[in-house]
Amino acid sequence: MPEPWTLDHKVTWFVQIRTRPGPVEDNGDRWAENEHTGLMLAVCNCGLNTGWIGRDQMPTHETLADGEQHAALTAQGWGRALRDPVNREAVAVALRTEARVNPEWIRDIIRREQRLNGGEPYRV
Ligand SMILES: [Zn+2]
Repeated sequence: MPEPWTLDHKVTWFVQIRTRPGPVEDNGDRWAENEHTGLMLAVCNCGLNTGWIGRDQMPTHETLADGEQHAALTAQGWGRALRDPVNREAVAVALRTEARVNPEWIRDIIRREQRLNGGEPYRV
């Protein structure tokens, strides 16, 4: 029986750059000007995707080198994206749609969180 396939961890970083046409020079040449926006992202073969985040938010190389942490980092990235005001309307639309299509799924998630946190149950 063959061994099972696994997703190896292989991280790649991207630095976001923006470009604009530069001034026209005396000889008529016009070069592009580039600058870093301060955002970067890391993706991994396993599916980790930090999304565009500030350099100061980027996990360290040591953290990213530990593939065992990639699932948790992916969850943090989703949480960050869900809370980002830029995505607010899209998240609201998705949650409303899921609430209509599969409300029990959302109720189950909320109930589990309440149990895990020992919080007061409330009706959902
Ligand atoms: Zn990975």
